[in-house]
Amino acid sequence: MLLTTLLQIEPILAKQLNKETTEAVLNFLKNYKCGMYIYPGVFKRKFNISIDEIYSLLNEMEKIGVLQSYYELVCSKCQKAMETVRLFNELPDSFVCELCGEELPTLSNSVLIYKVIAKDE
Ligand SMILES: [Zn+2]
Repeated sequence: MLLTTLLQIEPILAKQLNKETTEAVLNFLKNYKCGMYIYPGVFKRKFNISIDEIYSLLNEMEKIGVLQSYYELVCSKCQKAMETVRLFNELPDSFVCELCGEELPTLSNSVLIYKVIAKDE
């Protein structure tokens, strides 16, 4: 991400996180390029932030046009990640895992992730 993008994100982080964590998260976000997906679980593990807090931060970043949310279908049985869907109402009720063949209810086998849409240049 560009410095100008990170400067937009900083006040959002600073509202909820302490100074040290804010800087660490900004430093980490620097590595994300346009088109890459952010998995909330990565932030939870890396920075010890609660998952509710992470989703709140990512949601704020989406509001200012840095990120866009997607649903990713993931098989809870074999962890295979399949397609990403932009809108909740585009999700099927259930789907079949292309790896293990298990039929899965979408609600418990999808995860909300965020794509970086802020331009790199
Ligand atoms: Zn599977």
